[in-house]
Amino acid sequence: MTRIAKPKHPIEIEGDFDSEIAFNCFNLTALSLLPNHTLEIMVARKFLVHYQDSNFDVDYETDDGFEVFKFQLFSLTAVPPDEQKIFGGADGRIVSDDSDLMAISDKLRLVTIQGENPQLDSEIVKSDEELARMLQAEEEALMFQQFAASGDNRQFEQRVRPYVDQVLLYEDPHRQKAARNTVPVEKVEEKALVALAKEGNLKPSKSELDHAFLLQLLFWFKQTFKWVNSPPCEGCGSETANQGMGVASSSEIAYGASRVELYRCNVCPRITRFPRYNDPIKLLETKKGRCGEWANCFSLYCRSFGYETRLILDFTDHVWTECYSMFLGRWMHLDPCEGIYDTPLLYEKGWNKKLSYTIAIARDGVYDVTKRYTRKWHEVLSRRNITTESAASSILTNITRECRKNLTSMIPALEERDRNEVEELDKNLCSQDDDSLSLPGRLSGDKEWRTLRSEIGSDSLSSSSCPVRKCIDEHVSSIYNAFSPLLSRLAEFSSKNKALEGLHFVRGVLVDLKKSPFKTRRVVIDSNLKDAKFFIRELLPSFNLMLDALSLKSKLEADGKVEICLADEPVRTSMVLPVVFHALDDVLYNIQHCNELSKSSLYWPLLKLNRICCGSVLASGEELPFGIATSAFDGTRLSKWEEPNGSKAKPGNGCLYNFKI
Ligand SMILES: [Zn+2]
Repeated sequence: MTRIAKPKHPIEIEGDFDSEIAFNCFNLTALSLLPNHTLEIMVARKFLVHYQDSNFDVDYETDDGFEVFKFQLFSLTAVPPDEQKIFGGADGRIVSDDSDLMAISDKLRLVTIQGENPQLDSEIVKSDEELARMLQAEEEALMFQQFAASGDNRQFEQRVRPYVDQVLLYEDPHRQKAARNTVPVEKVEEKALVALAKEGNLKPSKSELDHAFLLQLLFWFKQTFKWVNSPPCEGCGSETANQGMGVASSSEIAYGASRVELYRCNVCPRITRFPRYNDPIKLLETKKGRCGEWANCFSLYCRSFGYETRLILDFTDHVWTECYSMFLGRWMHLDPCEGIYDTPLLYEKGWNKKLSYTIAIARDGVYDVTKRYTRKWHEVLSRRNITTESAASSILTNITRECRKNLTSMIPALEERDRNEVEELDKNLCSQDDDSLSLPGRLSGDKEWRTLRSEIGSDSLSSSSCPVRKCIDEHVSSIYNAFSPLLSRLAEFSSKNKALEGLHFVRGVLVDLKKSPFKTRRVVIDSNLKDAKFFIRELLPSFNLMLDALSLKSKLEADGKVEICLADEPVRTSMVLPVVFHALDDVLYNIQHCNELSKSSLYWPLLKLNRICCGSVLASGEELPFGIATSAFDGTRLSKWEEPNGSKAKPGNGCLYNFKI
């Protein structure tokens, strides 16, 4: 077997290129020649971008636009979009928003310019999300005033109390079932299993799987739910402007929307209503809102899959969720708006929030969990001035006692859990401020890895911290190796067309496999069909290594049909399939564009050291944008940039995922 060795240095391709620019022009017309299978990756063009001493492949997708392109470059080079200056092709013209990215040269050069005053910029320009948060803060303040005006000085309790009934809605079997019915459970489970497999865990325990499922549920939710600042006009879809509050209709009140915001269309006379639904069952249907709706609806989802769930109320204007992770043996922070988990210092460190009270509300009680979210407890204490600490504590204790009235059998376990949490929170408070959280470059292992690959470090990127994940990618190498016999066989064919036909057939088989349910994947090839006969006779023998790499096996049936089915853990196949598609499409593209069929023309796309391009991100099966995610995965880079909600946030608002390889 020929092994495809990974070259130590970026490979050099013979041909006409200068030291700054390499590779050739790709116009992906080849993709339109593929047969009736839906393409995974709609790439319009491939660019080769030279930056410092490296070249980067970037797939440009027409739908995404220049902004996304710049973020792709950012994730590859760590040069923030603001500081990018891109020069195009031979005439060296500057590429900008106005440039036609379909028409310019495929060879680009990137240089860094220092932002003139980026700090000032980021202070002035507020993202939609920040504005919406300000709105939310105003709302909270209004609600607060109502309570304060009622003459009762027990403000603290009045702030917490409404949520005690709210979280009981999550216990309703009808609401839970409705929630579960909207989730593609098998898909989420498959992603969870693949995520674990990529960390090298093919046989997860129940608690590991539950934990992984919860994270994938969070990612799924983040992509499903929409953020609303001012809603688009219901009539024409144009932007709207706030017109104050309206009177709630009975159907709105039925789902807890006593407050209804009104928005006037900027174009047509229509008024669009934005009822602030509190009943999560309605939110399963509307799938939109601000952080209140997000956290409310996501908490129902968590509860409906059996996780112990808390709604977290931050008195300074935000709401999120906590779930008890049996795997971690503790409560875990989950922010559905951000798609970020287990990063409790996100608010104080990342957002520079001045926290005061952070209260967890669950079916079994209410808890002051502020200490989980701060390393500046004293500062926080100085802001906790609406009641005394002991009064706050006794109010929470009393509510908790009420909540537990009907949970008598659970009380010993709950009390033990409480004690453990108090201990954990006190310990956290004394622990060192963990700088590695926001400076992922400082994690062990990174330096060696980066030096080895002479990659640009990610140290310069500050980020709202994200947990480190391991990434195992032997499967990528095994797939690339498995192409070897197949391509050797194809190289023996007399014509390009014959080779293309063969590969298209292979692709069709793989598409059918991908479409079948992941736990029982199989496909039967009818040898009576003309193409199938050719495939079985000419290609199948050299396809066996590929089947191995995919954890699949083929069986010749008595009637001459060939069955391809799972050979091992279904998750192996789920993990590897996207990688095959990516590699196969590269090979197809290349055959289409080579002058004559030869081994080298077949192989070189698989020799790429740098597998980073947005195509590879898709291929890796990693979650693509919550905003924009590019670069990485399948073991080509340690970090991956993501932007919340696709907003034009500055670096620092997004999040950097780190992978240990
Ligand atoms: Zn309109």
